[in-house]
Amino acid sequence: MSYCLLCNTNYKPQIDFKDLFLFKKPQEKAICPNCLSKFEKINGQHCMNCNKAGQKVKFCSDCRVWQVKYQGKLLKNKSIYRYNQAMHDLMVNYKRYGDYVLHQVLADLIKSQISPADYYVPIPTSKSHIARRQFDTVSEIFKDLVPLTFILGKIDNGSAQGEKNRQQRLKTEQSFYVNEKLNLQGNILLLDDIYTTGRTLYHARDALAAAFPNSCIKSFTLAR
Ligand SMILES: [Zn+2]
Ligand SMILES: [Zn+2]
Repeated sequence: MSYCLLCNTNYKPQIDFKDLFLFKKPQEKAICPNCLSKFEKINGQHCMNCNKAGQKVKFCSDCRVWQVKYQGKLLKNKSIYRYNQAMHDLMVNYKRYGDYVLHQVLADLIKSQISPADYYVPIPTSKSHIARRQFDTVSEIFKDLVPLTFILGKIDNGSAQGEKNRQQRLKTEQSFYVNEKLNLQGNILLLDDIYTTGRTLYHARDALAAAFPNSCIKSFTLAR
């Protein structure tokens, strides 16, 4: 029996016959098939650049704004899930109420779906928010999946992006800086939990691109 961290019940793990054939033990999953079915993968029509679901045109309205602002230099983003009710509830419990154990559920949802890169750079949480929640919400999700490079720092300016509305988010000033004298060359993948307007990720890219002009920077988020 396995235990589901979302609905808190025991469930029988589904047997993958491929694993059985290879004499592998069934993989422990943090959530049951019923809870898993509530998360909606981004399939079908979506923005060619940021993965926003349900787009009939090539680029979504957010990307069109960034296209103008950055003279066509868009940040290519991959997201796995739609930000639906199940994802919203999970994020609220994890981030707002600080339910640390849920990082396992979030990691499970994206396991083996992160694009390959030379460096994986998590979006940092400000010190005041780490103090409030006792953990760094983004890096905890990714830490067991890929090797992380902690090169971005965040200036503490009070409120979190999650507590702002869309307009306030778009107006946020740059608050990231490169905090180590490493020399990153190659493919850098920025990692975050949710892509809302893209403001955070574009600022992170700006800071990295200024420090490492020869790198290629893309981003990955759980939800869009
Ligand atoms: Zn469940
Ligand atoms: Zn887009």
